[in-house]
Amino acid sequence: KHGTAAALEEPIHPGVSVDYTQLLINGNFVDAASGKTFPTLDPRTGEVIAHVSEADAEDVNRAVSAARKAFDEGPWPKMTAYERSKVLLRFADLLEKHNHELATLETWDNGKPYEQAANIEVPMIVRFFRYYAGWADKIHGLTMAADGPHHVQTLHEPIGVAGQIIPWNFPLMMFAWKIAPALACGNVVVIKTAEQTPLSALYAARLLHEAGLPEGVLNVISGFGPTAGAALASHMDVDKLAFTGSTDTGKIILELAARSNLKSVTLELGGKSPFIVCEDSDIDQAVELAHFALFFNQGQCCCAGSRTFVHESIYDEFIEKAKARAINRTVGDPFKKGIEQGPQIDKDQFEKILRYIRYGVDGGATLETGGDRHGSKGYYIQPTVFSNVKDDMVIAQDEIFGPVQSILKFKDLKDVIHRANNTRYGLAAGVFTKNIDTANTLTRALRAGTVWVNCFDVLDASIPFGGYKMSGIGREKGVYSLMNYLQVKAVVTPLKNPAW
Ligand code: NAD
Repeated sequence: KHGTAAALEEPIHPGVSVDYTQLLINGNFVDAASGKTFPTLDPRTGEVIAHVSEADAEDVNRAVSAARKAFDEGPWPKMTAYERSKVLLRFADLLEKHNHELATLETWDNGKPYEQAANIEVPMIVRFFRYYAGWADKIHGLTMAADGPHHVQTLHEPIGVAGQIIPWNFPLMMFAWKIAPALACGNVVVIKTAEQTPLSALYAARLLHEAGLPEGVLNVISGFGPTAGAALASHMDVDKLAFTGSTDTGKIILELAARSNLKSVTLELGGKSPFIVCEDSDIDQAVELAHFALFFNQGQCCCAGSRTFVHESIYDEFIEKAKARAINRTVGDPFKKGIEQGPQIDKDQFEKILRYIRYGVDGGATLETGGDRHGSKGYYIQPTVFSNVKDDMVIAQDEIFGPVQSILKFKDLKDVIHRANNTRYGLAAGVFTKNIDTANTLTRALRAGTVWVNCFDVLDASIPFGGYKMSGIGREKGVYSLMNYLQVKAVVTPLKNPAW
């Protein structure tokens, strides 16, 4: 039994129209200069939802010039921070009002459960814009003691044109994580959405203009990585580049930035995060959290707990229960109520995941459940659980980005610390224990940008997020994100009469 739900029935029609498919440049929806479009597909069926304008280098030039003009001539960076904050707050209200349209486009284009989009993700981005609206008028420099008779102060100024490139797994959330801090700090933005999921950001960007954003401050382009994305990363007039996606692409971005104008770069990349279940755990709770840590969003999370380490004393019971939980996961049309898992994003990811499942079997791991596609249409995959996974297996090393749980056995804390850290990634980690000393030991020993203790995927606006090692450079969210979008100017003025 793999989801008794609706995968084999006719897909539910979303009931929302797709109104925005062009590029958003200088406050207007326009065709690509080439006139080209590309189809965006429904992962439930592989059928075309809409044809979307396809940006290339010329459109990136147009968007960057519009942004440059908006930055140099204002009003955005020059208006009061309070006015900027009010635009972001009005935008948050509009996002809240249009939750249904946003969540529908998100589910249609991405395949994630509508209930997840409507109840979790849209409310999270509403909160996110309110959070950064709150920061806009609290950004300020310092004064410092100088050795000589000088008045010394720092000004925290916006960087200028921020280029941003986002992935498809959380289209709206990534849009929010990128543009909210950039705009709050007074920057202007050119953002390239993922080619798989262009729709929701265009809809949201239109709302932001309704909220009073001046033209040219936010430009949204749809298109592909090697064309539009590379043109943005190597543009001489882009001052900062923020990227979320794969580690391989992150390396390309850094190189393009270095070869062009040395724009500052922040990167949120892949992960292979450990989820460690200690011997004192309540097994039912640990199974449920480990299941959530891996399977949430069809397993398409950069921070997914994709190496489930379980203490040997509870290992066998854990496997049985993890298997039962995966079998009970409801898979089907993401517009249906009660669906936990929709289709994977596209054919490439679908095939890649099935290939990794074969590597798991061929490599000697035990396939406890799943292992194949779910249904016969679209990109659904059965929730899959492997036990007896060894550290050197491909499925324990590479990011699968799908609903495939790999369970490994460990002996003691020293053993699991070494093995959990023995990866090129360092994005996140989960720890499940009732023992405060175990928790303290693990939280300090794990080399990861986030350690969740007895919880997972808590992603509030205020909590910084980012990677150690090859999981990235820099932190997004919270107060930490602000410094990505600010430069510090030291201003030194002689004091005429220091002794007064
Ligand atoms: P990707 O890195 O190829 O794409 C992410 C974004 O980068 C997209 O907007 C894409 O168009 C753009 N891009 C691709 N090549 C580019 C280039 N040469 N120059 C500039 N921009 C470029 O990721 P993907 O193919 O969508 O997914 C592949 C893997 O990435 C996944 O299997 C997963 O491991 C990882 N991933 C990680 C995250 C994350 O949040 N860290 C998100 C999505 C995917």
